[in-house]
Amino acid sequence: MRIDTAINLASIELKKNNIKSPLLDCEILMSKAINQNREFVILNLDRELNINDYKYYQELVKSRSKGKPIAYITGKKSFWNYEFYLNEKTLIPRPDSELIIENVLKIYKNKSYVNFLEIGIGSGCIILSILKEKKFFLGKGIDLSSECLKLCDINAKKLNVKSRLKLFKSDVDNFSQGKYDLIISNPPYIKKLDLKHLDKDVIDFEPIVALNGGLEGLSEIRKVINKSSELIKVKGKLILEIAFDQKKEVTKLLKEKGFYVDKVLKDLANNDRCVISTKV
Ligand code: GLN
Repeated sequence: MRIDTAINLASIELKKNNIKSPLLDCEILMSKAINQNREFVILNLDRELNINDYKYYQELVKSRSKGKPIAYITGKKSFWNYEFYLNEKTLIPRPDSELIIENVLKIYKNKSYVNFLEIGIGSGCIILSILKEKKFFLGKGIDLSSECLKLCDINAKKLNVKSRLKLFKSDVDNFSQGKYDLIISNPPYIKKLDLKHLDKDVIDFEPIVALNGGLEGLSEIRKVINKSSELIKVKGKLILEIAFDQKKEVTKLLKEKGFYVDKVLKDLANNDRCVISTKV
């Protein structure tokens, strides 16, 4: 079968299963099936597929038609300027989280050395992107999932920042090492009862532990703020990702713990998403 025929048939299949960008997805899956990049696929639509590649392609399309996110099927995702390995134990990096990096770079434009902590690293996309952009920063990352730590370590090697990274397996409450100029976190912040309203791709495949913020969505954010107030230096910055409707509550929690809220930034969809605060 020719590549274009296989793609067109698969695209109809994905469309039937309500997948949002069927053609694009089918091209990406084809590039995985034949182990070439997407440009190659588009430039070689008239080529014949060999039978094994076609069988493999059909398997990939079947996974996608069941809703499995492309990033988990391909095992990677682009975020900021880099590509990160991924698996189903880690949340797929969201473009909204690039706000944290953008603002770290702005705040520390004229500062080369910063000792920072990330609480809940996932694939490592945030902490590693910062280490990559700021060559003298030192990063410490904690996560309760060994799989995330393993993956972050692999990504750190790939990006060549491992010598400036320390990882610890810990939950936020039980970590008490060091004092930091900067603490960042994108904690689970979805209200428990709202989880079922998330996209099917998300709720069926992404790790709930990385999304579930308890009944009010604030339980992990609260822990991160409490812990940060212990571990942060005076005048240090705490940068948090929050849900679109948590600005007020999070501002209150921060004030209670001695933080001044510098700014709340909006994401690409114009929702409040990122809080920058300073320990006073
Ligand atoms: N922004 C993510 C989502 O809604 C949630 C991430 C989080 O809970 N930290 O898919």
